[in-house]
Amino acid sequence: MNADVTSLMAEAGHEQVVFVSDAEVGLRGIIAVHSTVLGSSLGGIRFWHYDTEHDALCDVLALSEAMSYKAAMAGLAQGGGKMVVRWDDPHAARSEEFLRAIGRAVDRLCGRYYAAEDVGASQRDMDGVALETRFVTGVDPARGGSGDPSPMTAFGVLCGMQAACEVAFGEADLRNRKVVVQGAGHVGAVLVDLLLDAGASVVVADVDPARAEALGVRTIAPDAVFDEDCDVIAPCALGGVLTAERATWLRARVVCGAANNQLADAAADDALAARGIVYAPDFVVNAGGIINIAHEHDPEGYTAARAREQTARIEGTTRELLLEALRSGVPPGRLAVVM
Ligand code: NAD
Repeated sequence: MNADVTSLMAEAGHEQVVFVSDAEVGLRGIIAVHSTVLGSSLGGIRFWHYDTEHDALCDVLALSEAMSYKAAMAGLAQGGGKMVVRWDDPHAARSEEFLRAIGRAVDRLCGRYYAAEDVGASQRDMDGVALETRFVTGVDPARGGSGDPSPMTAFGVLCGMQAACEVAFGEADLRNRKVVVQGAGHVGAVLVDLLLDAGASVVVADVDPARAEALGVRTIAPDAVFDEDCDVIAPCALGGVLTAERATWLRARVVCGAANNQLADAAADDALAARGIVYAPDFVVNAGGIINIAHEHDPEGYTAARAREQTARIEGTTRELLLEALRSGVPPGRLAVVM
C-alpha cells in the first residue's frame, strides 16, 4: 500500500499525504498537501461516499493538485491541499465530536494545510472544525470569518462564462443564452439566480429533485443534462463529467461550471477543442471561493468588496486563456496547466 501511495504522490509531485482516523467517532479521512511552494496549502473538506480507500486517495490527490493550479492562476500566495472524509449518508448530521476530531487532524499539520468547505460541507462544519484549530477558513462571519465561499464561486463562474461566451459567440452578454446547470447545491443554486438576473434562460438538474425544484426554473432529469439542446453547460456537481466520447455529441457550444476536475482525461480536452466547443477550465473559473477565503488573511481583515473585485478578474484571465488556446492550438485545459 505504501509504495502505491508514494508512487501516486510522485506522479503529480504531492508533498505530503496524511491518513486520518479516529475510531471513537468513526472518522476516516485523508489530507493531501500538493504544494506549499507559494504558501500554505488551502482547500476544502469533501464529505463523500467512496467505495474504496483507493478511490478516496485518487480523489484527494487530484483535487489537491487542482487547488495548486487554481491558486496560482488566481494570483494567490497559496498552495493546493484538500481533505476527503468518508461519509456514507448525505442526510446524516455530523456531531460536534466528529468535527472536533477533524479539527485536531488539521491542527496537527501546523498550518501546512488550511481547511475550507467543499462538496457535502457547510459553514456549520467549518465552525465545528474551528473549535480545535485556527487553520480553517469560511467560518461564521460573526466570528471574523468569510462565511460560505459558494456565492463568490458562483460569481466567478458567471464572470468566466461571460468571457467564454464572448469567445464562442462574439458577445459576452448572457441575455437569451440557454444554460443548463448540473447540480443545484451551494454553488449551482446561486449561479442559477445570477444567470436569471443576467437574462439567461436556465434549466437545472440535480440527483436530489427537491433541490432542483426549489429554484423555480425548468428542471430536467440528471441523466438528460448532456442531451439537452443549449448554448452553455455549467457542471456544478462532481468531476469527470467530460469524456472524449461525450465531447463528440455534446450539443452546447460552451462548458463553464464550478465542479472541480470536470475533464475525465486529457483526451476530453482535445475532443472538445476539435469540435470547437469552448471549455473554460474549471480551476480558472471556480477560483472565486478560494479568492474569498484567501482574503481572510488581508492585513486589514476580510472585506467582501475586495474579494469580489479580485474575483471579477476571472473574466479577463479566462478570455486571455481561451484566446491563446485558439491562437496556439493547445486545448484550454492543457494550456491552463502550463500557465
Ligand atoms: P454541493 O454539495 O452543495 O452541491 C452539489 C450538488 O450536486 C448537490 O445538490 C448534489 O445533489 C448534486 N449532484 C451530485 N451528483 C449529481 C449528478 N450526477 N447530477 C446532478 N446533480 C448532482 O457542492 P457545491 O459546494 O455546490 O460544489 C459544487 C461543485 O463545485 C463541486 O465539484 C465543488 O468541488 C466545486 N467547487 C465548489 C466551490 C464552493 O465554493 N462551494 C468552490 C470551487 C469548486
